[in-house]
Amino acid sequence: MTTPNPSAKLHTSYLEISKSAYRQNIKFLQNQIGKNTRISAVIKGNAYGHGIDNIVPIAEETGIRHFSTFSADEAYQALNCIKKDSHIMIMGMLHNVDLEWIIPKGISFFVFEFDRMLAAVKMAKKLGIKAKVHIEVETGFHRTGFEWNEKEFLLDIIHQNSEHIELVGLCTHYAGAESISNYVRIQNQIKRYLEFKDWFNEKGIHFQTYHTACSAACLNYPETVMDMVRIGISQYGFWPSQETYMSKFKQLAPNKINPLKRLISWKSSIMSIKEVEMGSFVGYGNSFMAPRNMRIAMVPVGYSHGFSRMLSNLGKVLINGKMVSVVGTVTMNSITVDITDLQNVHKGDEVVIIGNQKQSVITVASFSESTQQVNYELLTRLPQEIPRKIVS
Ligand SMILES: *Cc1c(COP(=O)(O)O)cnc(C)c1O
Repeated sequence: MTTPNPSAKLHTSYLEISKSAYRQNIKFLQNQIGKNTRISAVIKGNAYGHGIDNIVPIAEETGIRHFSTFSADEAYQALNCIKKDSHIMIMGMLHNVDLEWIIPKGISFFVFEFDRMLAAVKMAKKLGIKAKVHIEVETGFHRTGFEWNEKEFLLDIIHQNSEHIELVGLCTHYAGAESISNYVRIQNQIKRYLEFKDWFNEKGIHFQTYHTACSAACLNYPETVMDMVRIGISQYGFWPSQETYMSKFKQLAPNKINPLKRLISWKSSIMSIKEVEMGSFVGYGNSFMAPRNMRIAMVPVGYSHGFSRMLSNLGKVLINGKMVSVVGTVTMNSITVDITDLQNVHKGDEVVIIGNQKQSVITVASFSESTQQVNYELLTRLPQEIPRKIVS
């Protein structure tokens, strides 16, 4: 977003993104997977809400040169901020017509069905440029991927078009590596993937990279760590699940300090303050009646900004380093919070929705637990319009 002048304050809240936290997370993750495995930074969903154009340069500063998007539009965005020697990979959606710019830009992409495979071959031929493909195989996720019984036909196409196709990767995705309840399913997926790999290798087909692991797979199933891993949530400082954190806890350094650091903080400020008499209803309807004489503060953050309506009478924010409660319903653009017990609170004071203030902290997890949203969803629902500030 561009503002009329650099000192204008058009926003009602802003996000801070910490570079040092990112560095620390990558260091921890690289240490977990070993130095011979490349990290692809997954930047789908607007880089999990952090902003593609914010995260790409931060990641590149730590040495990352590989980025994964879900779709062509995200790849296009990434293209505008990557360094020359960085590579982009599309894991999901693209329209076949987009291959016309995707292939010349050297962007690689998942191929999981014959339609896309044939379109890629056709476009590569037309352009005289090889298409960089990752063959995605079905191992038990049951969403996308070539079936076991399709491999012979696929092999024929590969053989017939070797001058148009560059086999950059053989890949698959696991169906819930963050929970032990999926253990058997994941084991079967690993087995099936290796069967595909062996089969292709026996037929003389070798891929440049073998990659299967997301954050949870890296952390829970070391055998899924191959040439490259596709790390999403953990680079942003979150465990894929509470379960993964608990299972790792014993192996962490003796001090047991959580090695993953949240990059994001979400801050706003008090818009106005009002005294409310006991017995008055606060905000729309009758969801909250003041049980005593109260002071309430308006904070200009509502559900249109990603502060869920489910947090009505439930959410917490930090003011003056103290946890205070949302009273009444969350509206489109604002919430009201109870500051009756705080001293020295003024209009314009900082309000922390996610992050630290003095000795207190509100984590994304505690925020999302109270609304049943998982970290992933909360982060990606933070609107692109909220300004993001990079801090060291
Ligand atoms: C989202 C995604 C990832 C990254 O998942 P995280 O759990 O965020 O690490 C990896 N691979 C594929 C195919 C994905 O869609």
